[in-house]
Amino acid sequence: MNKIPYKIYLSEEEMPKQWHNIKADMKEVPEPFVNPATGEYCTPEDLAPVFCEDLISQEFNTTDKYIDIPQEIQDFYKMFRPSPLIRAYNLEKALGTPAKIYYKFEGTNTSGSHKLNSAAAQVYYAKKQGLTHLTTETGAGQWGTALAMACAFYDVDLTVYMVKVSAEQKPYRKGVIETYGGKVIPSPSDTTEIGRKILAKNPGTGGSLGCAISEAMEVAAKTENCRYVLGSVLNHVVLHQSIIGMETKIACEKYDIKPDIIIGCAGGGSNLGGLISPFMADKINGKNDIQFIAVEPASCPSLTRGKFALDFGDTGQTTPLMRMYTLGSGFMPSPNHSGGLRFHGMSPIVSKLYHDKYMDAVAVEQTSVFAAASVFAKTEGTLPAPESSHAIRVAIDEALKCKETGEDKTIIFGLTGTGYFDLAAYMSYNEGTMTDSIPTEEDLQRGFDTLPKI
Ligand SMILES: *Cc1c(COP(=O)(O)O)cnc(C)c1O
Repeated sequence: MNKIPYKIYLSEEEMPKQWHNIKADMKEVPEPFVNPATGEYCTPEDLAPVFCEDLISQEFNTTDKYIDIPQEIQDFYKMFRPSPLIRAYNLEKALGTPAKIYYKFEGTNTSGSHKLNSAAAQVYYAKKQGLTHLTTETGAGQWGTALAMACAFYDVDLTVYMVKVSAEQKPYRKGVIETYGGKVIPSPSDTTEIGRKILAKNPGTGGSLGCAISEAMEVAAKTENCRYVLGSVLNHVVLHQSIIGMETKIACEKYDIKPDIIIGCAGGGSNLGGLISPFMADKINGKNDIQFIAVEPASCPSLTRGKFALDFGDTGQTTPLMRMYTLGSGFMPSPNHSGGLRFHGMSPIVSKLYHDKYMDAVAVEQTSVFAAASVFAKTEGTLPAPESSHAIRVAIDEALKCKETGEDKTIIFGLTGTGYFDLAAYMSYNEGTMTDSIPTEEDLQRGFDTLPKI
């Protein structure tokens, strides 16, 4: 057997040349999108005014288990992939656990997260279709940055509607996006009808992700050669993120690593869906008995406390309906929540797998997340993104359980990114001013009241 190195890097030749489409392995696939106006399932034609053609066909594809990664995307991936699978020897030692902990580190590119995996693919297909312009929204800013990098690479214009408070709180994110040639418009803005409407009603608003989505979609629908792109939740995004799981599985097979537990943080569900994808296929087909754990913030608990229901993807209620675990599109996480992962819903693929009991979900509070982040930063050297630190929290908890029972389980978790732009949150944790907030049943009910009545 090959000796297991501290950091496992695959060679360029070993890199996967196909994505894995988990839907082809699922016994029951997620329900298709529903058109809220008619109550009928959406057709690819319904989505064509807003989304790119190839992405729509990937969105609807439930039969091809593997989908070729075009050479041009592989060439882009080679700039920052393969990403390392790292054995957390120092963390294990600090915890005194017999567990073996590995993490797949997606923060080795300038965007600082896994989002570049899908940005590279989405912009390539847009370019191939002859589009010249894309729009999107960004909250924390990782998606906007990743997309700006991909748009620069493939020479496509980009307009990013950035939630106004984020644009003000994170001016350097805006700086990176602009350096790559992206145009940043704080949202709500006077450049769209919906933005003007919201501003007229509430001139002082700091904006929201749902509002930025509505603005970006409006511009895409009204501008020639322009489409809207989204960085999580959708099936085709999970497909692109399967590169994370494919690489991890190849590395595991090469070094005979047999995971007992795989853990990922879950916002919209794309990194988690991608990381577990090929392992989950084996589980569905009876070839392993891995425990999969989704970790979400206690302040935005869509899997652990949400409803499995048809819901909109945006606060403006303009998207098709998706069957997913959701808190309702009107749910607003408490403003003191700084750890990311604030989307009200969850990827339909992850939702369906969870609903069918192929995986578990845990909700954790943000102070305990930052405590775990702090331990990880000190022992493993990397300053983790707050989002990623949700997975670290549960990896540590599972490793500590092993310490009690003496089991030497193998744990893999996804370290989705770095936290260099999240220092305000780290400082608040360090100063002891960070607090936790868990929505009450009444808070949740207010969100559920916004679910469409069908
Ligand atoms: C966006 C983001 C997430 C959450 O998104 P998913 O679609 O749930 O993967 C997690 N970690 C980082 C670093 C992110 O940027």
